[in-house]
Amino acid sequence: METYEDIVARYFSKEEIQSVQNMHSHLIVTLSVTTEKQEKADQLKNELLQLPNTERVSIIFTKQRQNPLFDKWQIKGVKKIIGVASGKGGVGKSTTAVNLALALANLGQKVALFDADIYGPSIPTMLSFENTPPVSYDGKTFEPFENFGIKAMSIGSLIDQNTALIWRGSKACSAIEQLLTQTNWSDVDTMVIDMPPGTGDIQITLAQKLKFDGIAIVSTPQDIALIDAIKGINMFAKMGIKILGLIQNMSYYICPHCNEKAYLFGENGAKNTAAQMGVKFLGDIPIDINVRQNADEGTPIIAKLPDSPTTKAYEEIAQKISNLL
Ligand code: ADP
Repeated sequence: METYEDIVARYFSKEEIQSVQNMHSHLIVTLSVTTEKQEKADQLKNELLQLPNTERVSIIFTKQRQNPLFDKWQIKGVKKIIGVASGKGGVGKSTTAVNLALALANLGQKVALFDADIYGPSIPTMLSFENTPPVSYDGKTFEPFENFGIKAMSIGSLIDQNTALIWRGSKACSAIEQLLTQTNWSDVDTMVIDMPPGTGDIQITLAQKLKFDGIAIVSTPQDIALIDAIKGINMFAKMGIKILGLIQNMSYYICPHCNEKAYLFGENGAKNTAAQMGVKFLGDIPIDINVRQNADEGTPIIAKLPDSPTTKAYEEIAQKISNLL
């Protein structure tokens, strides 16, 4: 004759069965499974109820169902992910992300750059793959672009900017998820993500869904940019993400005639803010016409002018970030 245990074992594995108890014709089966196995459990219950001397059957599920809201996106082929974020637009976040990605590659890392800036994807212009649709060999996954020694993909390659702007948060996030997880990255040491500016729903979702190893915040030295940078730092820190530090962009301008440094937006604003907030100051990048010109022409300054002082500034920041990973 089959025992209760034998019957339960026909439905569930040894690891899944925690206990089978008979308490005065009340059979209690405790299973280490989630309610996803409800149908199977109902079949078992029906069979057990047919047995003589079994008046009641209770099946207890002890395993918690994972909440899909907390699942992280799986990006295959990528070891580390860092975000480049800013509190507001126009402070040079994307330009910094591109040049940092190239500088990390110069340090010997295999680097990928992902442009998640749904409000103004500018990486295709800066890396010369604008108006080029991504290649897909199987109709399901995309090949990343490869330029200047790094792999890259942009949300701007999937959708045009007008569409992106009218999309609500969840739609924008699923487009970012699709592109990130369905691009054939492989053998990437560090992925740099150019985040959308600000601290809204999209940024929060990205912070929840991506396994960030750290986030660097870019700001100009003015107070109003810094107020937003502080909001960004607080938001990411509250979500448990490591703040790599603050980068001060457009710190000063070197007069081409007298070589004097002019602090157009004030001096040391980001440095002081970093000190007040207890985050690292990662470095200064000057206002350099070559940064803008080369970005617009599709060759980042690091690739175009490898010996310029601004290139060196990006490289020093990349080295500091690399040491923190
Ligand atoms: P964000 O991503 O924060 O919106 P961008 O990276 O698109 O900002 O930069 C805004 C503009 O400022 C671009 O035209 C860019 O070329 C220019 N820019 C950024 N950093 C510098 C810099 N250090 N020197 C000169 N121009 C810069």
